[in-house]
Amino acid sequence: MDIFCKIASGEVGKDFIYEDEELMVFEDIHPEKPVHLLIVPKKHVVDFIDVEDHSLFQKIMKVAQKMVKEKGLVGKGYRLKVNGGGHQLVDHLHFHLIGPMEKAK
Ligand SMILES: [Zn+2]
Repeated sequence: MDIFCKIASGEVGKDFIYEDEELMVFEDIHPEKPVHLLIVPKKHVVDFIDVEDHSLFQKIMKVAQKMVKEKGLVGKGYRLKVNGGGHQLVDHLHFHLIGPMEKAK
């Protein structure tokens, strides 16, 4: 079982920034910027391309917007990214929210 499934099941303790029935948000253990959150579905999905229920994306984006606001990133520069196809460090779908970022040139 991957680490995110263990966190979702409560087998591994984690401080959540946000949690609901389907999603959990916590800090990346290797932050690239002062804010570096992982938005993770509790249900096991390996890869971005495997998601068939697109309402999951809608929920993830809604929580991402909420986190941008709550973490003070509005107008500060931020990045929302997903790695896939084997580039992800943990084989369980997760979106990164990272900021503040410099203005793109
Ligand atoms: Zn998993």
